[in-house]
Amino acid sequence: MSKIIVLTGAGGVLCSTMAKALAKQGNKIAVLDLREEAANKVAKEIEEAGGEAIGVSANVLEKDSLQKAKELINNTFGKVDILVNGAGGNHPLGTTSNPFFAMEDLENTVEGFKSFFDLDSKGIEFTFNLNFLGTLIPTQVFAVDMVGRTGCSVLNISSMNAYTPLTKIPAYSGAKAAISNFTQWLAVHFSKVGVRVNALAPGFFLTDQNRALLTNEDGSLTKRGQQIIDQTPMERYGKPEDLISTTLYLCDDASSFVTGIVIPIDGGFSAYSGV
Ligand code: NAD
Repeated sequence: MSKIIVLTGAGGVLCSTMAKALAKQGNKIAVLDLREEAANKVAKEIEEAGGEAIGVSANVLEKDSLQKAKELINNTFGKVDILVNGAGGNHPLGTTSNPFFAMEDLENTVEGFKSFFDLDSKGIEFTFNLNFLGTLIPTQVFAVDMVGRTGCSVLNISSMNAYTPLTKIPAYSGAKAAISNFTQWLAVHFSKVGVRVNALAPGFFLTDQNRALLTNEDGSLTKRGQQIIDQTPMERYGKPEDLISTTLYLCDDASSFVTGIVIPIDGGFSAYSGV
């Protein structure tokens, strides 16, 4: 495989691992992230390992910033063949404090406590924008290079929350459901012009985004962290490396008749009813 691949959010845990694996296959990698330093660090690590990469700083919510990034990528490597939409995340203002509503929540005046009625539209908006628009806008910018050619594709990142929402995080769950839905929509929309569109639905991976929710300071699991393990038949968290083989498969021409699918990589979480 020798393609030009842009990964957004590739300064982060999951997509940096995917970027490095794609680089090992001989692809040219644009490591795009809001955090310039993180993007450059990952690009440097790829180069040190003998691969080809550039770090690019851009905001997936700002078309102008993405256009500038595209210009740099086009001038350095050429037309983009593959886009991995990895930037995403949650916001505390779109998260309830408790999994279930209780009548006494109406009287709770503890600083920072949030019942369903306290959810802030700013937190919901942030989460919907980052995950959904943060997938759609980069696709508008980079897929222009792909339409009408062969061997091009978009890979989105959905979540277990897209199938059944986790408690406490309605905005993130809704936004990831929107990504699975958009993956199917765009796969159909681009089906006549040679661009495949698929998604990964990772199970639970310990990253900076969720570490505080799932682990205590001493490294032991929180109640929620343990609940996830109990619901995962393989009884462990995912390792970023668990995403590599499916990423390579969906980006490679070996999957040239595969479009509009969302693949769970979850140790059986989505298959298990808990009984
Ligand atoms: P991460 O926080 O390590 O990485 C996310 C990266 O996105 C960060 O480097 C961050 O700087 C970047 N980013 C944030 N806002 C941006 C913006 N506006 N423009 C450009 N870059 C921006 O998280 P991760 O766990 O590696 O997550 C990667 C993707 O996988 C996300 O979409 C996440 O929702 C999804 N996901 C994660 C898990 C998990 O268990 N960690 C599970 C399912 C899905």
